[in-house]
Amino acid sequence: MTALVVSDLHLDPARPEIAAQFRAFLEGPARAADALYVLGDLFELWIGDDDPEPGQRAIVGALRALSAAGVGLYFLHGNRDFLLGARFCAATGGELLTDPTIVERDGRRALVTHGDALCTDDAPYQRLRALVRDPRWQAEFLALDLGVRTMLAREARAGSTEHTRAQPAMLMDVNPDAVAAAFRAAGVDTLIHGHTHRPAVHALEVDGRPRTRIVTGDWYTQGSVLTWDAAGFRLEALPRP
Ligand code: MN
Repeated sequence: MTALVVSDLHLDPARPEIAAQFRAFLEGPARAADALYVLGDLFELWIGDDDPEPGQRAIVGALRALSAAGVGLYFLHGNRDFLLGARFCAATGGELLTDPTIVERDGRRALVTHGDALCTDDAPYQRLRALVRDPRWQAEFLALDLGVRTMLAREARAGSTEHTRAQPAMLMDVNPDAVAAAFRAAGVDTLIHGHTHRPAVHALEVDGRPRTRIVTGDWYTQGSVLTWDAAGFRLEALPRP
């Protein structure tokens, strides 16, 4: 059994080369897998499942073809695409998982999460996260016209870009205590997340037990894929064709 794990594609009409590489991945290597997990920020912006933006529709179609070929498709929300909903799942044949969630495959258990909730040093972001994950806020936002939602989302993205630029780099990474607490609460030895765009496999110890934190990378200049099979975990970069 082979699962592939990706995150942080940040698909956007302004970056067609990422969409092209991801579609080739969905039509190629992903077909040989049993499951594909997308750990958030598949899309740079997602203002609702009713957005007819053609680039997004093309990706939805490519994901649908993958699930129709028998590959299990699982999504987590990211901080950019936290409004992916039931219609998106129906259209792709995928399933939204709660963040965080424990996945068990090939006798190994891992806690999977987007990763933004672990960045607890960034207090302003955590306040924003709590607001926009509130179902009432989401219902009110989704009730707005598409044009208004687009405008608000662009403003929010500009604010987020400015915030990220203004923050010291360490505040934008995961907090070690939050990581330790996540390992402890889940009772697992492996944690997989994206979000920080710092692909790596970190060995650490929590409560005297060796643990592994695997970070999948973004797709800005190359792909990043974690393979999870009977042999264990392999994090690899996919060169841009
Ligand atoms: Mn993110």
